[in-house]
Amino acid sequence: MSIAPAIPHVIDRATCTALDAADPLAGHRELFDLPEGVVYLDGNSLGALPRATAARVQRVIAEEWGTGLIRSWNDAGWFTKPIDLGDRIAPLIGAAAGEVVLGDSTSGSLFQVAVAAARLRPERRVIVSELGNFPTDLYVLESVQELVGEPGRPLERRLIGGDGIPGPTLADVLDDDVAVVVLTHVNYRTGRMYDMNEVTRQVQAAGAIMVWDLCHSVGAVPVDLNGAGADFAIGCTYKYLNGGPGSPSFIWAAERHHPEARPAITAWHGHAKPFDFDVEYAPAPGITRFRVGTPQLLSVAALEASLDIWRDVDLELLREKSLRLTELFISLVDSRLAPWGIEVVTPRQSARRGSQVALRAGGADGYAVMQALIERGVIGDFRAPDLMRFGFTPLYVSHADVWDAVATLEDILSTEVWRDSRFARRGAVT
Ligand SMILES: *Cc1c(COP(=O)(O)O)cnc(C)c1O
Repeated sequence: MSIAPAIPHVIDRATCTALDAADPLAGHRELFDLPEGVVYLDGNSLGALPRATAARVQRVIAEEWGTGLIRSWNDAGWFTKPIDLGDRIAPLIGAAAGEVVLGDSTSGSLFQVAVAAARLRPERRVIVSELGNFPTDLYVLESVQELVGEPGRPLERRLIGGDGIPGPTLADVLDDDVAVVVLTHVNYRTGRMYDMNEVTRQVQAAGAIMVWDLCHSVGAVPVDLNGAGADFAIGCTYKYLNGGPGSPSFIWAAERHHPEARPAITAWHGHAKPFDFDVEYAPAPGITRFRVGTPQLLSVAALEASLDIWRDVDLELLREKSLRLTELFISLVDSRLAPWGIEVVTPRQSARRGSQVALRAGGADGYAVMQALIERGVIGDFRAPDLMRFGFTPLYVSHADVWDAVATLEDILSTEVWRDSRFARRGAVT
């Protein structure tokens, strides 16, 4: 494995282009169709478009659907796609073949999995998560609490603090009444990463089931679910995996849980013999029982094209480059943006950081600054109340991109162009 040079102390743009020239992953950028003049630092929200995707989706539409029609369920392997593509996601998360299946949305998959997890601990009445979690996860858990609890007596919820948010620690809330702990491995706002091995061990030592949300981890950092001995996981494929808007989520369940697992939604694609059209439900063996209904095959086609890229990505090289990009960004922010009080919120300790960096905008309005950046072609995003987020997808972001992003940010802050009223307008989606 070739080790690219570390970030030198004195950095200029030429240093960045030299780092790009020595970057073993630089060639992957050609596999993506990025608009000219755009520095794309929002792959943690919606990954870029792979060049191969449009033709793949077109082929599925014209040949498999148009010509093959209903025959494609067998001839084009439509029925087993969620399992086949699960097997291709497996090596990215330290899972074995047969342990991963595609789901619907991440929210739906969390419901499916968290109910199964809670049912493995019927004598326990508490679900633990974190105040700083992506809110949909907490909203979903409210339904789980109701469904798994008794009528009028939902499961109790305990939320830990951390990541700058005051609240109890995991050790404070764990006791022998905790059934399930649901945590997001890399935080969506700050990019802070948990120690998966350590947290899993702590949760299981208390007798609880560990569920990991990998939305900001898969394709961003190496993950080893089986190495950590975790119980369940879910994640998105439209962020760092570049599956496209609305591409399906995935579900992982450790093989030891397959025989006992009772997911929330028992539907025909999770049935042992779906084409017997039996009146009674009987769960399929293995991970298949987590399936629900007909997969979104056009989205699945787009995901398949993006997974082709991942076949030969070395995850150690990916992590190295990711850390180089985030370290470069942090050191440029420190050295060039100090006069404006810009604060790095993401942990500086690399082992605690995913592949994104969040900045607090000091005296400036972070939302307006981000809109000014986007107008200049540097695309990140803003997360209320005050964080500017920058995602660094190692497959297509270059060191020169990082330089250009910070230089543009410096210009926007020094000219105060962000104060223009056009940057204050908010769309429905931030
Ligand atoms: C992106 C993200 C989601 C998205 O959920 P969808 O149901 O796919 O919209 C959920 N949880 C976390 C932690 C996320 O980062």
